[in-house]
Order: sequence, then structure tokens, then C-alpha cells
Amino acid sequence: MSSKHVLLPQAIESEAVDLLKAADCEIVLSPDTDPATVFPLLKDVQAIILRTGINITRELLDHADSLDIVSRTGAGLDNVDLEAATQKGVIVTSNLGINTGSVVEHVLSLMLALSKQLPLLDKAVRSHNFSIRYQYLSGELKNKTLGVVGFGRIGSELGRVCHQLFHMRVLAYDPYLTNDNKKAYHSWVNFINKDDLFAQADVVSIHIPLSEDTHHAVGARELSLMKSEAFLINTSRGPVVDESALIKVLDAKKIAGAGLDVFEKEPVEENNPLLKLDNAILTPHTAALTKECVVSMAVEAAKCVLDVFNGKEPPNVANREVLTSDRWKHLKK
Ligand code: NAD
Repeated sequence: MSSKHVLLPQAIESEAVDLLKAADCEIVLSPDTDPATVFPLLKDVQAIILRTGINITRELLDHADSLDIVSRTGAGLDNVDLEAATQKGVIVTSNLGINTGSVVEHVLSLMLALSKQLPLLDKAVRSHNFSIRYQYLSGELKNKTLGVVGFGRIGSELGRVCHQLFHMRVLAYDPYLTNDNKKAYHSWVNFINKDDLFAQADVVSIHIPLSEDTHHAVGARELSLMKSEAFLINTSRGPVVDESALIKVLDAKKIAGAGLDVFEKEPVEENNPLLKLDNAILTPHTAALTKECVVSMAVEAAKCVLDVFNGKEPPNVANREVLTSDRWKHLKK
């Protein structure tokens, strides 16, 4: 294999870099993710390994004359112009499933922290208010109802864990699952419509991809259906939830709280009212970013690149139509 150039708009873990170097690849590390910095670096690269810090737009792709593959370290592809990549014959892969466990653990942490009121109790102890223990603020998840919106890899695993660990009743809304898919869960999941899910669940957790169709899929109407003691968790993508509608219901205590890992604008802006709400727990898009998971995601993304360089079809190709083109039909399964 002749020396190939792999662009990293952001650094990735050394385990993945070592793998690429061992295969004789030249690493091109961008000093920052500003498109103006990245543009000139794209000219002679054959691969991009992409985290979330930059959008691979049509304009950027137009600067990449010899690009073979864009390999995402994570699951979401909302920062790649898939249509433009497909038109240019560029293979796009993502890392589906690798981060399921770490995201599920993050959702559980948010659910437990909210129901046990951990931030409030921690603050009280630090301000010498030990007697807060007699206010009995904590609740339990046991026997409560979980509503999962998007019953894919993360949503279904969350449902399984909550059902087994906390004996939660599991409701799910996913219009894209076939009846055959649903059958596998029939003994412990009740598939219902979105409105009933929002109205019945004690915890609603969102696990759908961001697309034009899912932008603000959770808005004022859905939030108004929720119980006043219910929590909303969003670890999918910020714009899936109408953030200003959520701020209104949190501020008016119309729902009990929210656990948010993702936001409409990231990083969160200084004047975002969420920062002042003590019934919201906020994390900086870190659900998948455990020490273990970042290594696995980077290594898998590097392996996809090496597969293509070695004439092999990589896993999780998002635009499979390119594989039948003259350029790629030689790839071995
Ligand atoms: P997945 O593709 O396995 O599951 C997504 C599910 O959503 C599918 O079953 C699909 O049918 C369903 N769906 C799509 N549109 C829907 C709609 N409008 N209503 C209801 N269901 C709908 O993906 P996954 O691995 O479970 O990941 C889910 C999302 O989580 C990803 O798209 C990604 O954006 C996000 N994510 C975030 C982090 C993070 O760090 N916060 C990490 C990983 C994934």
C-alpha cells in the first residue's frame, strides 16, 4: 500500500494513530477545526477521521480531490453532508453500536442523579444544611415507567437495563421498527404512540438521530403532556428538543427536571437560561466519551479507513449506493 494521507480535524487517541502509522499512513493533524484552517489541508488527503468539532460540508468536500472515505468516530452523521459525499463517490462510515454501553451508563447516571436529587443534596451538605435529609427529596426509579423515544441500539439497551435492574415498565415509540423487530420485545415493552408515551412516562429518554424530520420532534406540545413529576433525558442531539420550550416548562416547574448531554448550540452559550435552572443537570456532550469508549471509537474509525485502503468493504457504510460504482465495486466483502 503506497503512503496515504489521513486528515484529523481534531486529534484522536494514540492507539488509533499508531495503527494508521503502522500501516504507513501519513497523519495530517489540523491545528484547529476552523474550516478556513481545514480547507487547504484537504487537497491531497485520502481519508478524514471525524469527531464532532467540524461539519464536513459540500464546500469542504469540493476541496478534497483525492478523498476516499470520511470515517466518523461516533454514531451520528449529522455533521457530514451525506448527499454531497455520495455525489463525489466518497464512502462515509460511522461507528454504530460501539458507544451504546457508555451512553446507556450516562443516561442511567442522569436518571439516578435527578431522581435521587444528587446535585441539590451535594450543595446542601457543602453549605452545612445537613438537615435537608429530613425533606425526603429523593425518589426511586423502581416500578416507575420509562418512555423511550427511538428504540434502536441505545434506546433498547436502556430499556432492557431499566426493566431488569429497576423493574421499570417500558414504553417505546419508534415508527420505523417493523412488527417482526417489535415481536422480540413483546414480553417487556409496550410500543405506543408518542403522545401516550409522553403522558404516561415518569422518565422520557430521547434516542433518535437528528434529521430534518426530527428537528424539534420534542416541542411545547409533547412537553405539555408530561406529568409534573416526570424527568426528560436527552443524550441524542440538541435540536431534537425545542430548547426554549423545555426551558419554559422547567422554569415553571411543569416537569420535575431534565438531564441534558446535548444542546441546540454547543458549546452552551453564557446566557443560556438552562445554566440558572437547578432542576436541570447538564453535561458537555460526554455521554460516549469515557476513557474506554474514545479509544474503541477511534480504533474502529481507523480500521474503517485501513479497510478501504486495503481493498476491503468497511463496516457501517452510511451511503451504500457508492459501493456499486466503478470506483468501489472492487472492494471485497
Ligand atoms: P440507532 O440508529 O441504533 O437508533 C435510532 C432509532 O431511532 C432507530 O430505531 C430509528 O428507527 C429510531 N427513530 C428514527 N427517527 C425516529 C422518530 N422520528 N421517532 C422515533 N424513533 C425514531 O442509533 P443509536 O446508536 O441508538 O443512537 C441514537 C442517537 O444517539 C444517535 O443518532 C446519536 O445522534 C445519539 N448519540 C449521542 C451520543 C452522545 O455522546 N450524546 C453518543 C452516541 C449516540
